[in-house]
Amino acid sequence: MDPHEAYSELIRRTRDLSYLASTSSLLGWDEQTFMPEGGAFHRSAQMGLLAGLHHERATDPKLGELLAVVESSDLVAEPTSPAAVNARELRRSYNRRVRLPRTLVEDLARTTSLAQPEWVAARTTCDFVRFRPWLEKIIQLKRDESACLATETPIAGKPAEAHSSHKKAPAPAPPARSPYDPLLDDYEPGANSQELATLFHALRSELVPLVATISERCRRLNHGGASTGSNQPPGGARSAILTRFFPRARQQVFGEAAAAAAGFDFKRGRLDVTAHPFCSGIGTGDCRITTRYDEHNFSDAFFGILHEVGHGLYEQGLDPEHYGTPMGEAVSLGIHESQSRLWENAVARSRPFWTYWFPMARRIFHEALSDVSLDAFHTAVNHVGPSLIRVQADELTYNLHIIVRFELEQALLSGDLAVADLPAAWNQKYEEVLGLKPGNDAEGCLQDIHWSAGLIGYFPTYTLGNLYAAQLFAKAETELGGLEEAFAHGDYESLLAWLRQKVHCEGQRRRPAELIEHITGNKPDHRPLIASLKRKYSELYGT
Ligand code: ZN
Repeated sequence: MDPHEAYSELIRRTRDLSYLASTSSLLGWDEQTFMPEGGAFHRSAQMGLLAGLHHERATDPKLGELLAVVESSDLVAEPTSPAAVNARELRRSYNRRVRLPRTLVEDLARTTSLAQPEWVAARTTCDFVRFRPWLEKIIQLKRDESACLATETPIAGKPAEAHSSHKKAPAPAPPARSPYDPLLDDYEPGANSQELATLFHALRSELVPLVATISERCRRLNHGGASTGSNQPPGGARSAILTRFFPRARQQVFGEAAAAAAGFDFKRGRLDVTAHPFCSGIGTGDCRITTRYDEHNFSDAFFGILHEVGHGLYEQGLDPEHYGTPMGEAVSLGIHESQSRLWENAVARSRPFWTYWFPMARRIFHEALSDVSLDAFHTAVNHVGPSLIRVQADELTYNLHIIVRFELEQALLSGDLAVADLPAAWNQKYEEVLGLKPGNDAEGCLQDIHWSAGLIGYFPTYTLGNLYAAQLFAKAETELGGLEEAFAHGDYESLLAWLRQKVHCEGQRRRPAELIEHITGNKPDHRPLIASLKRKYSELYGT
């Protein structure tokens, strides 16, 4: 077969797979936004069928044949050309998929779909026992998945072997050292748990003393040490400014205004309400982000929206010409998270950001903020203190929440920790790492949606995202200059254009760690994050 024809056919089939996957995404979005409770069983059948159809097409031996033709041609001569990148990444995902039996894929889709409402109910009633059998089944299915993925050779009869003898074939992946690695690799290609453990250990060693010092300064400030009179709300804590009454409808207006100013295109996206906020890139011209509103917590929705906007900007910045192929897709969850954290923290929690937005916030939320100064507000949105809920954690303690989950899910998967013992293990780790003990499982091990959705190996990408974000933002500041001044005028254009060019338009041209090194000149590293946190908090609280 002519390699050009093979490549066209490969791309046509790949796009069809993306349409199928995006249909599942849309159903998943609907499940969490508007689907009535009674629709859960029907939806799980739809999701199971679509997952099965997707798997059948994605593992069609014809795809392997087309790939082999393309891989033996000059189309892949230049390793960073779109054809070579697409062939490389399609081979990677094809080889992963042919190792998974359809029955397992369908079972996982059905189980996780049914587990969702069970998790919601268990979380609402703080009833871990209700969720336990679902989590046990999910962990077992993920162990099965990991075992299948760790198989060195694809399932017999599939043509993937044809690739391994070709001179241009990339080196085979090193044998997985832990059952966690094949799952992690799905979210962060090229990462492994041992390297992450080393990186996270270094991060933790720096964070723990920093959290202790800053929390103490923050506590003293909140309890009158540096009182600034009328800025001090009744009850003492300065951060309590943010728990005054912020009407939901006005939060929505304000959040949408900031989202639009950052560059989120509402003609190509929308913002809705869910229990657990997320971003879903449905396809070109359709990106869904969600949030949740608490009328006595300004930060939850506002920074949640800016976070999801960061994800949404990445999705909206992908090259539409390459839609549905690796060149038109995000690199990894870690890189995705770097975009959300960069907008949420480096931009929206900065002083210049609020120089521009605070006067408007004070007009919109005049009952809550009329007696509050910009200084007090900026300090409040950067309040630091150990807490129980990850999504509400401050920038400084956030990664400690991830380190706990990273350790626990590895133990669950390996069998070192039984699901029944999870609540106790969770509580013990929170006490050890953050010095707090959850009062119930809703503020403990039931707080996150991930495990009920079968997302094991996903959590570490949050911390990787924070590390990457600090590296990228430091580089953007050096290359662009004047970002603070631009933010103070509500102008994010140069930053967004830089991210579009360096990250968004690049699709999967490079793997995550390579992309970071390509842009910043350095491998993934915890030091830029620590440096930026030290700088920020010493400006806020003194050293
Ligand atoms: Zn995120």
